[in-house]
Amino acid sequence: MDLSLTNNFHEKIELDKVITHDNKVYYPLGGASYLFNDNFISYLLNNIKKENLIISIGAQPNSSPHLGTIITFMTAFSLASKIKNFSKQINVEILFEIVDSAPSEILKIKDIVYQINLRNNSISSSILKKYIELLNFLEKISGITYKIRNQEEFNKQKEILELVKLFIKNRDSLNRVFGSSDKFVIRVSCPQCGLTDKKGVNNKYFNNSIECLCPTHGKFKINIKKQSRLLEYNTPLRNLIRALLYHKKNKDTSIEYEILRVTGSDYAGYYQEQALYRTASLLGNVYAHELPIIVYSPLILDWSGAKLSKSLSIKQNAYGYLPSYLVDYDYLKESFDKKGLDIIYEEVSSWIDNPHKLFRHYSVYYFMNLFKKKEEYLQLNSESKSD
Ligand SMILES: [Zn+2]
Repeated sequence: MDLSLTNNFHEKIELDKVITHDNKVYYPLGGASYLFNDNFISYLLNNIKKENLIISIGAQPNSSPHLGTIITFMTAFSLASKIKNFSKQINVEILFEIVDSAPSEILKIKDIVYQINLRNNSISSSILKKYIELLNFLEKISGITYKIRNQEEFNKQKEILELVKLFIKNRDSLNRVFGSSDKFVIRVSCPQCGLTDKKGVNNKYFNNSIECLCPTHGKFKINIKKQSRLLEYNTPLRNLIRALLYHKKNKDTSIEYEILRVTGSDYAGYYQEQALYRTASLLGNVYAHELPIIVYSPLILDWSGAKLSKSLSIKQNAYGYLPSYLVDYDYLKESFDKKGLDIIYEEVSSWIDNPHKLFRHYSVYYFMNLFKKKEEYLQLNSESKSD
């Protein structure tokens, strides 16, 4: 290797610290942005059969809502409000599903990974308040009401028993598709200490019960029918069970509402094709066109094109190069004359109105530009007032 060349290259990078671009935004049509460019809302409405629509969103409240979560929530509320404006016959409501069975702490005991869940950890209630504050803001700005449901309430639904039994019966063949025994896992927390075998390594499944093992308190068993509220699913299984449950609800004409999901685009494409559509057809004998519609919100990408990660910003102190309002909810709320959330909502609403803006992703620099323009506008306004 020619070292002198490498050194020159590094020098050049050091000298060119500022990343320059032409500041022009392009919207090349392709894929979904081409297919739905002029009829997205009417396409959705053609596929919604009932008069009451629930748009489901979810989050693991293990830290303040970050930009990606805020964008997903705003996509849902804005979409709801556009649907309502388009068709007066439809009632739309948001359902925020709290994934309180997500880990707040991970530990390893004798080579087995255990987690302590959010619901067993008191931190989550103070963080939940911030989510509720965000939801209240969105309710006010969009005119769409919301409800909250936790995992326990989710599990109490009558259809869950049948779906869990179906999963237990087919879990080996399902996991075999993915070449691993722990891709789709049901978990139960120890009733005494809250420790949960994250990958269900020591779980034993029976017709009506699941037996688990706590490293401190030994074996414990739960009855699936009587104690379904205690069940927890890892992300791929929760995604699958949710879809199969909503599929049942949507098809059941005695239930007056229909459910549509809004989630982040990191679950779009290959993930959903493999982990949802293939598995749903394997497990549930369902047709893909009868599964609930999922609308994906654009991702916010860092300089390298990777999605902005909430957990990395906390655990690894990542994104030190970004302004605080992009990674910290409290800063965002207070920034720009307290108009931080309004600025993003206005932007997200324009995506729903123009689907070519919805079926793509946005970089952190795009958002910094957006805020910069607003800041300049606010400065100009305050100067003209003081003149
Ligand atoms: Zn225990």
